[in-house]
Amino acid sequence: MSLPFCNVALPVPLRTTFTYAVPDALRDSVQPGSRVLVPFRNKSLVGVVVECVQHAPPSTKIREISKVLDFLPALTPKLIELGQWIAGYYLAPVGEVFRAMLPPVTELRTERQIVLTDSGRAAADKEAAASRALNPQQHALLLRLRDKGGVMPFASAAKLGLDDAALQRLRRTGFIEIRESVLGRQAKTQRVIAWKGVARVAEEAAQRDAFDAKTDRVKAALEARGPLPLAQLLRVAQVSRSVVERMLRDGLLESWEERVDPAEDPFDAGYIPPAHELNEEQESAMKLIRARFELREFGVLLLHGVTGSGKTEVYMRAVQEALARGKTAIILVPEIALTLWIGRQCRAWFGARFEGVAVLHSALSDVERAREWWRVRNAEARVVVGTRSAIFAPLENLGLIIVDEEQESSYKQEETPRYHGRDVAIVRAKMENAAALLGSATPSLETYHNARSGKYELLTLTSRVEQRAMASVEIVDLREDFAKTHQTSPISSALHVGIAECLAQRTQALVLINRRGYSWSVLCRSCGASVQCENCSISMTHHKQRNRLECHYCGSLKAIPKQCPKCQSKYVYFFGEGSEHLEERLRKEFPGARIARLDRDTARTKRQYQETLGAFAGGALDILVGTQMLAKGHDFQRVTLVGVVSADSSLSLPDFRAAERTFQLLTQVAGRAGRGELPGRVLIQTFYPEHYAIQDAVKQDYPAFYERETQFRRVMAYPPFTSLANVIVRNTDLEKAIRWSRQLSEYFSPHDGKGLRILGPAAAPLAKLKKEHRFQFLLKSPKRSLLARVLGGAMTYLELKEIPETAVLVDMDPLSLM
Ligand code: ADP
Ligand code: ZN
Ligand code: ZN
Repeated sequence: MSLPFCNVALPVPLRTTFTYAVPDALRDSVQPGSRVLVPFRNKSLVGVVVECVQHAPPSTKIREISKVLDFLPALTPKLIELGQWIAGYYLAPVGEVFRAMLPPVTELRTERQIVLTDSGRAAADKEAAASRALNPQQHALLLRLRDKGGVMPFASAAKLGLDDAALQRLRRTGFIEIRESVLGRQAKTQRVIAWKGVARVAEEAAQRDAFDAKTDRVKAALEARGPLPLAQLLRVAQVSRSVVERMLRDGLLESWEERVDPAEDPFDAGYIPPAHELNEEQESAMKLIRARFELREFGVLLLHGVTGSGKTEVYMRAVQEALARGKTAIILVPEIALTLWIGRQCRAWFGARFEGVAVLHSALSDVERAREWWRVRNAEARVVVGTRSAIFAPLENLGLIIVDEEQESSYKQEETPRYHGRDVAIVRAKMENAAALLGSATPSLETYHNARSGKYELLTLTSRVEQRAMASVEIVDLREDFAKTHQTSPISSALHVGIAECLAQRTQALVLINRRGYSWSVLCRSCGASVQCENCSISMTHHKQRNRLECHYCGSLKAIPKQCPKCQSKYVYFFGEGSEHLEERLRKEFPGARIARLDRDTARTKRQYQETLGAFAGGALDILVGTQMLAKGHDFQRVTLVGVVSADSSLSLPDFRAAERTFQLLTQVAGRAGRGELPGRVLIQTFYPEHYAIQDAVKQDYPAFYERETQFRRVMAYPPFTSLANVIVRNTDLEKAIRWSRQLSEYFSPHDGKGLRILGPAAAPLAKLKKEHRFQFLLKSPKRSLLARVLGGAMTYLELKEIPETAVLVDMDPLSLM
């Protein structure tokens, strides 16, 4: 513990750690996982201590740590191990990995408290002399703590003559804990009501004012569901506040204030947790999950359940089982909206009494995120729900990691460190001896391949709950539609009729298009040029309401041209419909309908997002139009029609996953229809009805799609049959980018053909991005270790040739090859 040096990971794009000396005064406070302030070049940086060491490397000038930021090390030993694995596997600078794992470093005001533990209380109760491990000041502190109700501010320890080092020693005895909580907005509280269940009191009250129906309803609600927030109780039991107040006075109920989660959404108060009996398939899935827990060892389970088969219910029970075994759990979801939905379910299941649920995602403010993070680190929350980076939640004693919709590309981080949240989840589960439960209606090919080969355990839910039918899926062949109508509306006549029927029946429709904006290309009729972004090799998107062109890659803006920038022709026209256009068109075709749009332009904040989804779920809207945001996970009960405006645009991308993505998207959206009592119908508009991705999606036949797609992958040597790495050389200076690609090519060529295929250098599909020219190498090998070795060598080679590390981007297991 008290070693003279330590290696610190710093948030700089370098693949090493740095050695610092630990001043004597800080010896007790510096531990692996602590965040420290250190001098680096001519500034101060916050880094993470990776290890404490006896010796510094010779012949370097060693500087000293200036400050320790954490009393309790921010990262646990397991998380340090995980971070190092990520740095190694994804060839990422270790400091940047740790930065991604930690809560935002802001100038937060934190409050540090000393908390008495049970064994500390026992020690305090003994005579000072009897507890030989303690000196008089330490014993005095325990006594003071006991008298103060077990908690006191950290600073008060100094008044009793205990410095930081002394407190660290006391903490290690297990008598006290140190808690770090983030100050900020005052935490809100709500009143929670519980049934006291005291028979005698109940009888007395019954004699006094006859046990009426209202009292009965309150009792029944609380007995069935456990403690409820007041607002929710009033809804469930259909009583007024005064009834509850009377019952409280009569001693039938008890109440307390409980903190409302900062991440909680406003719909929570009215939310009633579903309490379903599991059906047979769900039950047998649970049986296998339980068996896995009984083994007490690492394992991966794939829950492959068709849309609407009740996977969430299985997740909740699995978490419940983990908690019952004294373990903690993480649930990863692919997007923020789902953290709200699953978070709400979790609070209903596990949160009411213990505030045991934390929610972590990027739409929280820094203060909220840091506060949630420290709640987890302090073991105040035992269940964490969140997006990708929640996989780094500092839970200890982890028993279960759930990855919902494991195939989603949002699990992959597209900036350094380029990790895949699902894959990290599996590695973390392995390190912690926990179970990983991957869920999906359309598993990624890699995952299903592993399940088929027996590496993962396969749990299948083949039918929807309550024998509800899958939605019927029909194809609208746009070639035929055009031949008949000669209309170029994005809404075919079949889709128009379908929506009209929905409106007549007062059910709801979802209409999906996978581009935002008004039109995604501005073309010149005279010379054929399109308006390109100046920084990127991509055409700019027309946004009509904002009256400008935007680049969706770098965010640059342009005025809408009156004439062609190339040939000055006046005949510019807009081509390719986006969501904004579709919304306009729907309003025109269905003037009385209540329509809203959901995409990244309309849902800029969490609140906007929730409001729109809430309005749709509550029946205040008839038609919801939007991008793939709509396709994921939501459980809308009154949707009877889903329209997909252009199924093809994702098929035509230059990417080996194009068919898989299209199949997944179509199956997922089809899953949004007919989830309630009403049957659902899906219309897919396409120019390529014969493509197998579309055909199999129509049949919602995953195994058939898997068979066909794996044939293609095997022949073309793509994952899951081969490991892939994408290497991009980039620079704003074209000549440099070319020169470095050539140099890298010289390093790679001798390896080509020796168990490894190296394609490139070639211009990347996105040849220019944010002013940088990009060249690409694609490395393929059936042996991942070989791939890693050659890439590791490339990193050393770059250093040798003095090619800046930031100029070469390595993407291990890339999801996109753009
Ligand atoms: P999935 O995630 O598999 O698409 P959900 O978990 O959203 O499906 O469940 C679909 C619906 O079925 C939800 O409204 C859920 O409350 C309900 N449900 C889940 N399990 C059961 C069950 N055993 N019996 C009846 N309804 C259920
Ligand atoms: Zn032109
Ligand atoms: Zn751009």
